[in-house]
Amino acid sequence: MRPVETQTLLAVQAGRLFDGERSLGPSTVLIAGDRIIDVDTTGALPPAHAQVLDLGHDVCIVPGLIDAHVHLAFDASSDVVSAVNAADDGQLLAQMARSALRALRAGITTVRDLGDRSFLALTLRDRLGQWAPGGPEIVASGPPITVRGGHCHFLGGVADGPQELRAAVRERAQRGCEFVKVMISGDHLTAGSSPYHSQYELADLRLIVAEAHRLGMRTAAHVHGPRAVADAVSVGFDTLEHVTFLTADGVAADPTTLAAIVDSAAVVSATVGDVPGQWEMSPSIASHLEVMIESLARLHAAGAPIVPGTDAGVAPYKPHDVLPYGLVALTGLGMTHLEALRAATSLAADACGLTGRKGRLVPGADADLLAVNGNPLADIRAIHDVVAVFRAGHRVR
Ligand SMILES: [Zn+2]
Repeated sequence: MRPVETQTLLAVQAGRLFDGERSLGPSTVLIAGDRIIDVDTTGALPPAHAQVLDLGHDVCIVPGLIDAHVHLAFDASSDVVSAVNAADDGQLLAQMARSALRALRAGITTVRDLGDRSFLALTLRDRLGQWAPGGPEIVASGPPITVRGGHCHFLGGVADGPQELRAAVRERAQRGCEFVKVMISGDHLTAGSSPYHSQYELADLRLIVAEAHRLGMRTAAHVHGPRAVADAVSVGFDTLEHVTFLTADGVAADPTTLAAIVDSAAVVSATVGDVPGQWEMSPSIASHLEVMIESLARLHAAGAPIVPGTDAGVAPYKPHDVLPYGLVALTGLGMTHLEALRAATSLAADACGLTGRKGRLVPGADADLLAVNGNPLADIRAIHDVVAVFRAGHRVR
């Protein structure tokens, strides 16, 4: 008989630690297999049989980052719609695996995929599950639900009218999606679609949310125009994506809707994060952007929870490792550096339904860690200076 193997213990030490909520001093994270079993800040010696990795005094350990809105199926090219339409499922899956790995290497250990084709994010999740360090944890919605010819119809999630909508929600539950994503407003990305207008009636939206919640799934609403935002809040969507209040004449954030968001249980997923120097902004977009940032800043000041959801993959300035730029951008909404880190870790974990497993360095949580040089709590830009990444207890960088 083989002797019973003692579980490998790994003790990762650094001069500073952010546990998802608070900043702590010199710390040791004790990892057994794929889980954290202890976080020690007393300076106690790790168990004698533990393998010790001391990252040094100048390093800070934070929970692996969570991007609350990505599209692994989009390749961050200048024409993502043509690219996705030209790829067959096998090619698309291979590209999604590369996108996932790119995210992981930047310390993004969890992504919420809010729009794939053929439920390929679930296929990728199953494959990665057999070799966890190959990518981040994936929470997925499958193809976004949209109307005929509506925004992202080419991803295959078309459903119109109560019967089709109910069937679409049930299919997502059966396949193992954690979220149902609905394109409530349109978007410029899709030819013939407009972000200013709503695609669904209030009764449709009510049906989707009720059916999803009944089946144990959460709901994410793609909302640009003011009516789409107001409708999503009133029927109880769990996360609100973009929330730009875009109209044909500019931006019209209505104070009543802003107050309704603050009073609701909804989490705002702010589309932050661009690689600098890759995007020439027209003066009209720049002025719209200022107003959009102002309404997000007002939501933050009023206490609405905001998480970063980059929309990674949709454009060349949004590659799959863009999230660290999004954290820097969150300080532009009035967040402190600590609040920005909390938004991308503990808050995002709660919004994605992963409380207890992700976003906090606590006993029992998955051993997903990011270590950076410097102190991101004093200057969030330190988040770019990656020293090490752990995913499910494996060092992947
Ligand atoms: Zn998106």
